[in-house]
Amino acid sequence: MGRLQKILIPFLGLVLAFWFYSARDTFKPEMLRGKRVIVTGASTGIGEQIAYHLARMGSHILITARTEAKLQNVVQRCLELGAASARFVSGTMEDTAFAQRVVREAQTSLGGLDMLILNHVGASYFGFFDGDVEHVRKLLEINFLSYVAMTTSALPMLKESEGSIVVVSSMAGKVGFPFTVPYSATKFALDGFFSSLRQEFTIQSINVSITLCILGFIDTERAVRAAAEVLRERPAPRDECALEILKGAALRRRELYYRYGSTRLPLLLRDCAAELLDYLVRSRYRLPAPPGA
Ligand code: NAP
Repeated sequence: MGRLQKILIPFLGLVLAFWFYSARDTFKPEMLRGKRVIVTGASTGIGEQIAYHLARMGSHILITARTEAKLQNVVQRCLELGAASARFVSGTMEDTAFAQRVVREAQTSLGGLDMLILNHVGASYFGFFDGDVEHVRKLLEINFLSYVAMTTSALPMLKESEGSIVVVSSMAGKVGFPFTVPYSATKFALDGFFSSLRQEFTIQSINVSITLCILGFIDTERAVRAAAEVLRERPAPRDECALEILKGAALRRRELYYRYGSTRLPLLLRDCAAELLDYLVRSRYRLPAPPGA
């Protein structure tokens, strides 16, 4: 009986928690109508799809990335899809001053900000860690420091609008992944910074939500090119992923998992069976045979 209770009570707790978190709110596209939103890394991939969903919902959109020609096309498409307004600023997030300039542009052209979606990601390699410390530093600047800089600059506007910060991260930012060591390091850093910041917002009664998005393998060109050959799983569709990110953001969720089954469920093992989780992560890869095998 005692043993049964030990298993049954936590299990019931988990079921109730799942029910509570999945059933408490429902998303409506009108929640984002007229909202002023920055989307970074929106020239392609998930960011581009986020921009299109926002456009259909009637938001004011400011997008950014490096490639001007692609941004122009995305802005044009957003206007066709029904965006309240759409504009872009091009530049590199290696430069903190550029990150701050994007936020200033929202201030001058949109008169404020309701949602900051931090999504861009710098190029890295897929393979064993090569010891290049400069690459780790550069990636931290793009994938982490620019997120911090944009958040810091945007905070006064977000406080005023009681808005939202959305941080696009990865399973590789919650558990060790092979072949993406520098990338994983930058994603773990995001969790540390934004989860701590959320605590401080609560203590200071700052009503700005922070949604950390934990994504699995998504079918963007870059990810498929880098990993499709070695990963045993099929990538999830980027347009659906983008919509789930916006739903999580509008509902002010603290964390969002997509797809749930391949991200949240394995992570439940992290604290009680870490080595099993490591093994499951490795088993997703077609690994080369060890030397001499
Ligand atoms: P993607 O297709 O490679 O797009 C990356 C975006 O970032 C592009 O718009 C790119 O545009 C921009 N960018 C790259 N370097 C930049 C720089 N130095 N300065 C400014 N912008 C820069 O990426 P994605 O697959 O959509 O990923 C989007 C987010 O989801 C990332 O945070 C990624 O870590 C996360 N995620 C993706 C997957 C996946 O399987 N796809 C899985 C987990 C998490 P320009 O080249 O024009 O600058």
